[in-house]
This record gives sequence, C-alpha cells and structure tokens, in this order.
Amino acid sequence: MAEALPTCYLNGEFVATDAARISPLDRGFLFGDGVYEVVPCYGGRPLRLESHLERLAAGLEALGIGNPRTGAQWRELFAGLVGKNGGGDLGVYLEVTRGTESGRDFLPAEGTPPTVFGFAWTLAPPDPDQRKHGIKAVTLEDIRWLRCDIKSVALLAAVMLRREAQAQGADEAILVRGGRLAEGSSSCVFVVRDGVIATPPASHERLPSITREVVADSIQSLELGLKEQDIACADLTRADEIWLASSTREVIAVTRLDGQPVGNGTPGPLWGKVHAAFQQLKQRECGA
Ligand code: PLP
Repeated sequence: MAEALPTCYLNGEFVATDAARISPLDRGFLFGDGVYEVVPCYGGRPLRLESHLERLAAGLEALGIGNPRTGAQWRELFAGLVGKNGGGDLGVYLEVTRGTESGRDFLPAEGTPPTVFGFAWTLAPPDPDQRKHGIKAVTLEDIRWLRCDIKSVALLAAVMLRREAQAQGADEAILVRGGRLAEGSSSCVFVVRDGVIATPPASHERLPSITREVVADSIQSLELGLKEQDIACADLTRADEIWLASSTREVIAVTRLDGQPVGNGTPGPLWGKVHAAFQQLKQRECGA
C-alpha cells in the first residue's frame, strides 16, 4: 500500500496527516454520502485536473451537494498538497462529503457545510514486471448499483469484487452486466480485435474515466481509430489484446483472462504503441 504523505488538507487547513480528525457523525462515514477524485501528478503537475474537477462538480450536483470551492480554490488546494509534500510524481486523493450533522438521518439537513479532505502519496513507477508481462484479470458479474457514473465513496461492491479477484489469483476484476462488459472494478477497459480498438460508450453503468480520455487522445495521436461500442463477453474471450486504464495505473495490458491467455499471452503491439504515446502525452502536458 502506498503510504499517505505527511501533510493533508482538511476543511480549509493543511495539517499533519496523522493528526487530522473528522467526526464519526460525518455523513461520509455513516452513509458513504460523498464523492472523491484521484488525480495523478507528474513532476508536481496534475494531469487533466480540469477534467477531474468537472467530474467532481457533476458528482456533487448529482448528489445535491453544493460545490464547496471555486475552480481557482480547487487548483490552489492541489498546488498546496503537492508543494507541501515535496512535489514529484504523486497521487492526490480528494473527498467531499455532505458533512457532519448532529445525529443520523437518511434525509440530510439543509445548510451543513461539506467536509473536504485531501491527501497525497508517492506514485510508484509502473511495475516493470507488469509492463513486460501484463496482468491477470478475471470476469465477474457486476454487483454494483445503477449509478456507476458517480464517483461515490461507497465502494463496498468494488472492495468485495477486488477481494474475489485476488482470491482467484488475479490483479483486477473485469465486470460484466447482462452479458456485456461494464468496466474494471477500478479501471476502464479497451479491447482489440483484428486491429480495431474498442471501448464501451459512456453510460450510467460505468465511470466517465479521465484516463480513458487520455488513452483516447494517445490513440488519436497515433492516427489510429477508437470505436465506442457495446462489448459482449464473447468479444472479451476472442480479444487479441485487452487493456485496463486508470489514473494510478496508466494503461496496462491484461495478458490472462479467466486463466486463459489473451492473444498470445504477452502485451500486444497496439498496447506498446499506445503506452508509448501515453508517456509522450504526459511529457507534453506535465513536462515530466
Ligand atoms: N472505473 C472505476 C470503477 C474506477 O474506480 C476507476 C478509477 O478508480 C476508473 C474506472 C478509472 O477512472 P480514472 O481514469 O478517472 O482514474
């Protein structure tokens, strides 16, 4: 586990992470009533911060929680967290809950100030073994709710699914709903077949992944096409390549699915190109 760095942000102040405290009556703790973001920073610069802030704003709006900070204030908060923790390649976690009330009621009280919490950790460089050999995944039935487009802090189903994947010797669960690909338990998914790269379209069944945008831009920079289409379970089994993408793992190749090799069982040629283009994009946008 990546350890939290010494300085965090809580409700307007930068404080020592191990001294930060919130009330057990916070609705995030009692109900999972909040949203979060994970933003990768390279060379101290956040990648696609505006997209993350837009998704955060959309999540808060869906929950009926007033956005507690302006864009400039969010950017200042990020700069503070990164600067106070020494810069470099960091992951930044940000959580906004509906706040702390005087008791516990499903129906929220009006006018409670949201709780805002952020912390950072050192972003480990991608595991060379995973880069070389790819990772293992299993397909599992999606047991989550029907608003997976909201980046809710209520992640119980994802925790259960990830534990199940681990019990089956895999690094990630690829979730299917009604015989179709939803997404990874904490990643978006791309599938390659006969040179065509595909990913499922935006829907309530999956998170609007920011890394998906970055991968799509990397694909475009290579003048390759990307099809947004529903992907059946059978397409996963027949795939030449499967990739997972997320803010902390960038884009990685799945080389075994449900115990069977994907393609020839090694990271595929298109993954290699897109991974390289992703590194260039990072360099261009973050100067890292
Ligand atoms: N889908 C789910 C369910 C996730 O939890 C995540 C990231 O944690 C992703 C997709 C990838 O999203 P992003 O690229 O914004 O990190």
